[in-house]
Amino acid sequence: MPTSSTRIAEKYAEVILPLPIAGTFTYGIPAEMAPLLQRGCRVLVQFGRRKYYTGIIADIHPHPPKDYEVKPLMALLDPQPVIRFPQLKFWEWISGYYLCSTGEVMKAALPAGLKVESETFVSLNEDFDKGDADMKFSETQAIIIMALTEKKRLRVSELEKATGIANLGHAINRLLEIGAIEIDERAVEHYRPHTETMVAVCAERNDNDTLHSFFDLVGRSARQERLLVAYLEMSGWMRADEPLRDVEKKRLIEATGSTPAIFKALTDKGILRTYKKTVNRFNTGTASVTAPAVLSPAQNKAFREIDSAFRSNATVLLHGITGSGKTEIYTHLIDRVLADGNQVLYLVPEISLTTQLTDRLRRVFGDRLLVYHSKFSDNERVDVWKRLLDSRQPLIVLGVRSSVFLPFHHLGLVIIDEEHEPSFKQYDPAPRYNARDAAIVLASMHGAKTLLGSATPSVETYYKALNGKYALVSLEERFEGATLPDVEIVDMRAQRKQRINRGILSGPLRLATEEALKEGRQAIMFQNRRGFAPVVVCRECGWTPKCVNCDVSLVYHKNIAQLRCHYCGHSAPLPAVCPACGQNSIDIYGYGTERIAEEMHEAFSDYRVARMDLDTTRNKEAFQEIIEEFSKKETDILVGTQMVSKGLDFERVKVVGVLNADTLLNFPDFRSTERAFNMLEQVAGRAGRRAEKGKVIIQTTAPESEVLGFVKRHDYKGFYEAEIADRQRYRYPPFTRVVNIYLKHKDAATVDSLAVSYTMALRRTFGQRVLGPEKPYVSRVSTWYLQSVMLKVESEASMTKVKALLREIYIGMASDPRMKQAMLYYDVDPV
Ligand code: ADP
Ligand code: ZN
Ligand code: ZN
Repeated sequence: MPTSSTRIAEKYAEVILPLPIAGTFTYGIPAEMAPLLQRGCRVLVQFGRRKYYTGIIADIHPHPPKDYEVKPLMALLDPQPVIRFPQLKFWEWISGYYLCSTGEVMKAALPAGLKVESETFVSLNEDFDKGDADMKFSETQAIIIMALTEKKRLRVSELEKATGIANLGHAINRLLEIGAIEIDERAVEHYRPHTETMVAVCAERNDNDTLHSFFDLVGRSARQERLLVAYLEMSGWMRADEPLRDVEKKRLIEATGSTPAIFKALTDKGILRTYKKTVNRFNTGTASVTAPAVLSPAQNKAFREIDSAFRSNATVLLHGITGSGKTEIYTHLIDRVLADGNQVLYLVPEISLTTQLTDRLRRVFGDRLLVYHSKFSDNERVDVWKRLLDSRQPLIVLGVRSSVFLPFHHLGLVIIDEEHEPSFKQYDPAPRYNARDAAIVLASMHGAKTLLGSATPSVETYYKALNGKYALVSLEERFEGATLPDVEIVDMRAQRKQRINRGILSGPLRLATEEALKEGRQAIMFQNRRGFAPVVVCRECGWTPKCVNCDVSLVYHKNIAQLRCHYCGHSAPLPAVCPACGQNSIDIYGYGTERIAEEMHEAFSDYRVARMDLDTTRNKEAFQEIIEEFSKKETDILVGTQMVSKGLDFERVKVVGVLNADTLLNFPDFRSTERAFNMLEQVAGRAGRRAEKGKVIIQTTAPESEVLGFVKRHDYKGFYEAEIADRQRYRYPPFTRVVNIYLKHKDAATVDSLAVSYTMALRRTFGQRVLGPEKPYVSRVSTWYLQSVMLKVESEASMTKVKALLREIYIGMASDPRMKQAMLYYDVDPV
């Protein structure tokens, strides 16, 4: 470990650390590290007294900081940058636009597994023409070439051993630059399925006292301390909000240049222990490749229109009704971009969609397809990252929002399917970015084109398309002449009066479902609420169970026999008697997906029911199983939350039931109409996607609602006209830009009064553009009380200027001692 006596080159590094603090941090560059260090490299640094972080080099310069002495960088973790141009610039854009620190962007951007050091293999580039380059090799370079000619492929460490020269980094970089050698950073043996010896520290995660005592125990031995520090770093110990990662003993020893004996000293002292674990293999299928499907005349026309629109406009909106075959058009575009040698990013809003699309795309693109989302293990995600980093090949990445952070090279096309989806927006934690909007910026940094696709474009996107900011291409027929389904609105009040229905199924929905099932077709039941029953109440005294941490009622989950908070995960048993009045009088009301699945079982006992929601899809295999079984018609009825509404393609679905549209219709914010229309039209779009017409039944107690009329007529334009007029009248996006500002504090009265004084300060600068403060819909989450203020700025206003003003106001507020225990954060373009 470099100490204060480490010789520092006259150079300094600006390091991005994964912290919510603005700006970069300056460190000294140890002399031996100087020639190897580049922007985008990962380094290990000490921050504070006992904290160590992986950081990213943002800049290297000769200016020592004026008012403090710098610490040296502790270690360079890779010989090559792990991010590539323009990723840093992209991080900075996100941090600037979404008002958060670059460190927070880094935290979201890098897969957790990138904390694990990889091994770097070096080999000769067979295609390299040595001809006239021979002359220019330095002595070290020539030795490297000789060693590689003999041994073919070596780890950097092996190469250093073989040549007897330490620190080959510089020479390797030179050879790489001129193309004489190739570097391959896949930690191959790490992914081989076998058991590995892993390391753990003998302390509880939150037991810092024991940990400190361990540092005292290793006290004088720098090599033991270094091993311990490296373990803590590699396992992600410091990042208390994330699960601990496995650390292989072998890699730990290698990475620190340690020895088994030093390691043994630590286990003997009871500081570290080992355990065995099976290591998963990264799945690289080499499926056969077939040509994309032949486009229908209508698809072909849209394809050509997109193509020519791209000549004059970098961003195109494809407005194609559900089932029109947008995916096939994307496939053709991707095929061409790959053939030109460029890469493609294909963004979808939901993991369930990657599951279905993986099969479709794998057939055409084979192993040029990479898939990236959070249900993959850390190792697998690092593998995708490294494959992109090391490769200049044309590859396509299919993924959810975090894929915008991957190290693309020559990105030629970004496809954002279901662009209207709110789940492209990250809520929490920062960066609160919208992957759709960020991807458009990313594309422009690469000089790439962006294709947005949707049957129900977001109001903002459609507005831009109508006003020439984006080009607009429409596709108004379903593939092979399938027609959009009939929509029937069922008035549940009338149903109840006539006592037609018992339970949640209305007469018409029961009938239609029965008929479809008898014909051998399938049904989807949509309910946007998971669990068994959302309302638990004592009929004698009115008691209802509340979360201890949040201002919400607990939802009853039957299979685990627990009450659950959907905000913080807190759970409690369902009491047998009312805890308030002591009587045996607890009732449950309302319907979550779990209960609906149960009722479907009872109502259609000859058929098989499956359920898809957060509770049944904890791992990626579960998604695949549910979707595959339904596709193969091994199940007949699929009950689900919004997961079933997003772009899935099942050919035998005839009936779609929306069990309770009311919850969608009564949301108190300016996007509620849009959200309701999109959700209903999308879920309706799952029905009748082939020859035979489908049927959609929407149950509601507000059948007169205007939105339902638009859905019934599949009238996107009608919906849009009404909505855009409202937005203009009340000055909402796209006519303004909204920033929601949240204040959090553990004390309700304090946050209320802070919010008032903060809002007053905001008004002094922004005047009428400030609305609030108000308590959000859920005003306490995970023991924090919340207040929010809405800022509406002119849509053409510069975010840099807004940011500067907000910063000033925040600094003014920070002098209030109560702010020490408070949190303030921004949500730009909330959805
Ligand atoms: P969208 O995404 O517009 O809702 P999809 O792309 O999922 O629609 O297409 C609906 C279905 O029609 C899919 O099963 C798809 O395979 C099929 N399909 C669409 N276009 C073609 C085509 N040109 N040739 C064969 N099948 C097609
Ligand atoms: Zn009671
Ligand atoms: Zn809670």
